[in-house]
Amino acid sequence: MPDIPQPPQDADARRAVAPVICYPVDTLPAVDLGLMARSRASATSVSRVMVPPRDGRAFRVPAGGFFRITCPEGPQVGDLNLFSAADPTERFYSGKTRALHGTHLGVGDRMWSSFPYLRPMATLVEDTLGWYGVDAFGGRVHDVIGTRCDPYTHWVLSDGDQYHHCCHSNLTRALSDEGVTGAEALVHDVLNVFMCTGFTQDTGQYFMKASPVRTGDYLEFFAEIDLIGVLSACPGGDCGAEHSSDVAACHPLQVDVYETPAEALAGWAPPVVNGYDRTHGR
Ligand SMILES: [Zn+2]
Repeated sequence: MPDIPQPPQDADARRAVAPVICYPVDTLPAVDLGLMARSRASATSVSRVMVPPRDGRAFRVPAGGFFRITCPEGPQVGDLNLFSAADPTERFYSGKTRALHGTHLGVGDRMWSSFPYLRPMATLVEDTLGWYGVDAFGGRVHDVIGTRCDPYTHWVLSDGDQYHHCCHSNLTRALSDEGVTGAEALVHDVLNVFMCTGFTQDTGQYFMKASPVRTGDYLEFFAEIDLIGVLSACPGGDCGAEHSSDVAACHPLQVDVYETPAEALAGWAPPVVNGYDRTHGR
């Protein structure tokens, strides 16, 4: 263990400085949940994708449409990636989404895209786990702090074991099957759908615990731009014990896509790409 330096005399005063929010979000463009609810009422179901346990599948959602991720059979966590259908190098930016909205997403929060686009890709409009809040361990659901389980970390931690059904590999295969070239390099840190996570108070380590998700629970999003979504049914199942193995009980996930008629979207347009001029001061 490293030596802990002696605290200075004013240590308590330094610790007592009040925090400030890094990114106050009150100047973000407002989310019009009313428009989304009205357009949802006239949206029609266009496709359903079943994601098998320990595997991944892709789906497409038109701008102004909706997608719903349901837990149809038993407790299961999903790892979600989003890409712009027009250019898959524009993809979900978990870190900046976390900086803007916090460690876990709730209704009204948006999934933001990578630089240089940085615009909303999807807005969370419904969450049947919205009642969970924060538990006594500091756990919450739907985090943007985890990365995705992957065979590289597993290889390091397991002294060389090869495991092929981590979310990273499931997402890579599914994106590749969707016809996107260079899939592995485009797979990115995820939204952990239904996963219950936090950081331990004492060591600050990332923890997971059995997801509170019940059969029939769902998370629904409004698509701000034309999207390719890729979802993995994590080999950790409900993530109550371990992942990166075939030990945990795993279940499928279901994705339903809804299209909104143009007239129901009158006055709405997809967000424009970020307006920074990209000269970086030169
Ligand atoms: Zn996983």
